[in-house]
Amino acid sequence: EVRVRFAPSPTGFLHLGGLRTALYNYIFAKKYGGVFILRLEDTDQSRLVPGAAESIEDMLEWAGLPPDESPRRGGPLGPYLQSRRLDLYKQTAQQLVESGQAYYCFCSPQRLELLRREALRAGQTPRYDNRCRHLRPDQVQDKLAQGASHVIRFRLETGIQPFQDLIFGWTRHEVAQVEGDPVVIKADGFPTYHLANIVDDHYMKISHVLRGCEWLISTSKHLLMYRALGWQPPTFGHFPLLMNKDGSKLSKRQGDIFIENFQRDGVLPEALLDITTNCGSGFTTNRMGRTIDELISEFNPSKITTHSALLDLDKLREYNRIHLQQQIEDEQRCRLLIEDLRGQIQEVYAAEIQERGVLQEDYIKRVLQLRKGHISTLKELVGPSYSYLWVRPSFSSQQVAALTKEAHLIASLMLRLIEEQTEELSVDRLVKDLKTFAKQTKATKYSEVMKLLRLALSGLQQGPGVAEMMVSLGPSEIKHRLQRLLQ
Ligand code: GLU
Repeated sequence: EVRVRFAPSPTGFLHLGGLRTALYNYIFAKKYGGVFILRLEDTDQSRLVPGAAESIEDMLEWAGLPPDESPRRGGPLGPYLQSRRLDLYKQTAQQLVESGQAYYCFCSPQRLELLRREALRAGQTPRYDNRCRHLRPDQVQDKLAQGASHVIRFRLETGIQPFQDLIFGWTRHEVAQVEGDPVVIKADGFPTYHLANIVDDHYMKISHVLRGCEWLISTSKHLLMYRALGWQPPTFGHFPLLMNKDGSKLSKRQGDIFIENFQRDGVLPEALLDITTNCGSGFTTNRMGRTIDELISEFNPSKITTHSALLDLDKLREYNRIHLQQQIEDEQRCRLLIEDLRGQIQEVYAAEIQERGVLQEDYIKRVLQLRKGHISTLKELVGPSYSYLWVRPSFSSQQVAALTKEAHLIASLMLRLIEEQTEELSVDRLVKDLKTFAKQTKATKYSEVMKLLRLALSGLQQGPGVAEMMVSLGPSEIKHRLQRLLQ
């Protein structure tokens, strides 16, 4: 059975890099009929960010990647929060100590710091010198009996542990020559990442570990631990880095890649998923506008390459525009968009709304149908250039006078034209009608007539075509607004 997990540490909020790792895991699970698990790795208690754990799960749900098993949903092999599994890590560490593959280390932080400084002074990479490996059992017992502060370290065996990474192919690192014995249980009794990670992957029956390539080097160490415990390791696959299009590190400055910020800015989750997979690899074709189901069916893990995925966030608006259009055209999704937009209208305009009709489904739907392909986010529709859709515009008689001397005449003729309409207003027909209409007025220019109508209908000097504005507003609201020109 395919069981994959996304295992972020709640030391920060979910960002685009994390979302991408979650997405590939999700797609992999769905493609092979497997299970997608969210596990929160909160063993570094000093770096926990309040609210991050909740938010990560919220953001996965929002993005349309709901985990099958998670801290919130639970599941058969939980709990899914490492701080609630401490006994399991301690037992495992104990097992390693008993079999001689781990040992107590009593080195003081001062000694370790000294080692570190000496190494740096000599131009070497600091590493623990494994001194406590050589303590006699009675020495260990004495120190434990005295209650001396200690950690547990895993004894790194020399010898290469080659493995076949799904993406990077055959990989080999001689860890023991490069690193000192790693801590598995810290002085506070919490496990380190390395121990907790493999213990959970084992007990949660993870079949494939799919994670960022910053963990590729650690994998050899993890494999040594699996071997020491007599456990069958999962298959590993490491994703290449996600970078900015110029090859620089994906920026976290100004919080611009945090998922909550995209959500707040009206970015659709589908657009985010689409853009992060389009810049990378793993798909038979690359094109804009793919839904999650299409991503699942087009996913091909053998197509994932090892070079960094370059993300062009400048294209995000375009992705969003395309996804928004697709969703507006889909009956069911459109209903959700209507709900969302209605909420936003109420939030932004609240008491200013004079005509309750603007909150009705038909009205909002018509607006969406007319504006799809032009707008990139729903949010735009509650911004100043579209406020005329929800509240009546304000403009002064000076503004009118500056546009034309024939405002009265134009308005009354237009009112008559609207009265005479028997069919529903349509943009195409109105465009034609407006041309003939302009000729009947005494105004010299077509543009003069249009400018006046635009002002009366929207208070704006530019924006969508007048015909489209009229269709959105509908006859009775048009009349209401034109009447103001007659006063
Ligand atoms: N907690 C690690 C992280 O934050 C998980 C790495 C892994 O997937 O093994 O990235």
